Amino acid sequence: MSPGLRPHGEPPAYFTFAGLEALGLPHATTTRRCPGMAPFSAPAGPFTPEAGRTLAQAGLDLSRVAYARQVHGAEVARAAPGGGLAGQADILVTAERAVPLAIFTADCLAMTLWDADARALALAHVGWRGTVRGATQAAVAALVGLGARPERVRVAIAPSIGPCCYEVDEPVTSGLASAYPRRWERWVVPARPGHVMLDLWTANEELLRGAGIDPANIENPRVCTACRGDLFYSYRKGHRGRLATLAALP
Ligand SMILES: [Zn+2]
Repeated sequence: MSPGLRPHGEPPAYFTFAGLEALGLPHATTTRRCPGMAPFSAPAGPFTPEAGRTLAQAGLDLSRVAYARQVHGAEVARAAPGGGLAGQADILVTAERAVPLAIFTADCLAMTLWDADARALALAHVGWRGTVRGATQAAVAALVGLGARPERVRVAIAPSIGPCCYEVDEPVTSGLASAYPRRWERWVVPARPGHVMLDLWTANEELLRGAGIDPANIENPRVCTACRGDLFYSYRKGHRGRLATLAALP
């Protein structure tokens, strides 16, 4: 496991990022061993009280957790002070203390963006569609709208599918080609005929830098959900569960 990810529990119920932890941001990415994860459609929301007790150890109060109906887009929703369903969006933002934002993934990138000085937090769900639609850039812009300065923003990218396992073809390649002409070729390597291996990590790190984020402030432990199916859920591996990435302003 990457030294940038710190396990909590044995087996680990969730991981934290070493850098964000050192800076005092309450956050977590759950594993498949996290107890009490409910289906998104559950009447009381996607976390049971048991999950709440586990994630309280990470400093997260799930009684105020905010989440969204994720649709692989680039829309932004602001969390209500009391949390709850924030609508249809793939980017959640808040300037409110102790309101956890939650993003659900299984292979897609869950990105945490934080400007401690501006007290602004965003979480984003970014897969290939989100990348094509500019979700990463929209997340940075939403934070700037809350007073953040890109050069101060810290970013962490949760375990997600790596270039080792992410074979794609049409319509992914044509989507990338039309959104990022003359750039997208750097994010792929040839695979079997008609296919490429896509590196969404490098793509989104590059898009973050283009939005003014300092590369030194990007934490990406580069842990692949498909390689580590023992710990994480991978849509590509046929898993039906979802990982949750959460963070709350301290
Ligand atoms: Zn892999």
